[in-house]
Amino acid sequence: MKARALVTGASRGIGAAVARALAAAGHPVILNYRSEHALAEGVAAEIRAAGGSCTLMAFDVGDAEASGAAMTQILADPEPLGVIVNNAGVARDNPLPALERSDWDLVLRTTLDGFYNVTRPAIMPMVRRRWGRIINMSSVSAVMGNRGQVAYAAAKAGIIGATKSLALELARRGITVNAVAPGLIETDMIKSVPLEQVMPRIPAQRLGQPDEVAALVAFLASDAAGYITGQVIGINGGMV
Ligand code: NDP
Repeated sequence: MKARALVTGASRGIGAAVARALAAAGHPVILNYRSEHALAEGVAAEIRAAGGSCTLMAFDVGDAEASGAAMTQILADPEPLGVIVNNAGVARDNPLPALERSDWDLVLRTTLDGFYNVTRPAIMPMVRRRWGRIINMSSVSAVMGNRGQVAYAAAKAGIIGATKSLALELARRGITVNAVAPGLIETDMIKSVPLEQVMPRIPAQRLGQPDEVAALVAFLASDAAGYITGQVIGINGGMV
């Protein structure tokens, strides 16, 4: 059996698609989310109906105490945790003069504290087994910048720095660390984005689908991707 995989923010959108793809590839999946219990149950039911294995773990990745307790429980299981997909994220878009401190804090806490809280406890067990895959969800906004997304782009650029540094720390241990930087993917997160304004910036002239991002993440989690580390892989319909 393949190693267990933890996917944060997997009750819907990209995370749900990633959980389904990793389960289909044979990983028992631990599906994290914050509050949408019914949606998470639905994703878990789909995974089980397809023959996969899925456990639900509701906790706020930005909450150090709650994440610490959850990770202790996850790591107490004798089955190794081999894959972490740090996907949980929120956007609170506003031009900087209108950006409230609470929104700045929430966006950075979810992405950056979330990465730290979930990833750090899992590193040494991965090092001891000499195998691991850590995949962090960044964004095209981190790479290109985006009006109204100062907080979001800062958080998503921060995760790129963390990815590259952690990849250097772990490269000799058989553990890869990569970031995925999606463009506009059709999920709840972009519901309020005016498509007529953004479409001219997308050469492919369409939104991406969660399953397309999930296929990339599943590849990065596979043995075949063992020589790819420290990379930021765009998936954005050609946005440059
Ligand atoms: P959605 O808004 O559709 O889903 C967000 C998921 O994250 C939900 O499962 C939500 O749980 C969970 N979540 C939010 N905050 C927390 C938290 N504090 N702790 C645990 N779980 C949390 O987002 P997408 O699927 O669109 O995005 C997934 C990732 O991809 C994010 O990191 C996002 O920034 C990134 N991304 C998305 C793009 C897009 O165009 N959609 C483009 C580039 C990057 P619950 O349902 O319980 O609230």
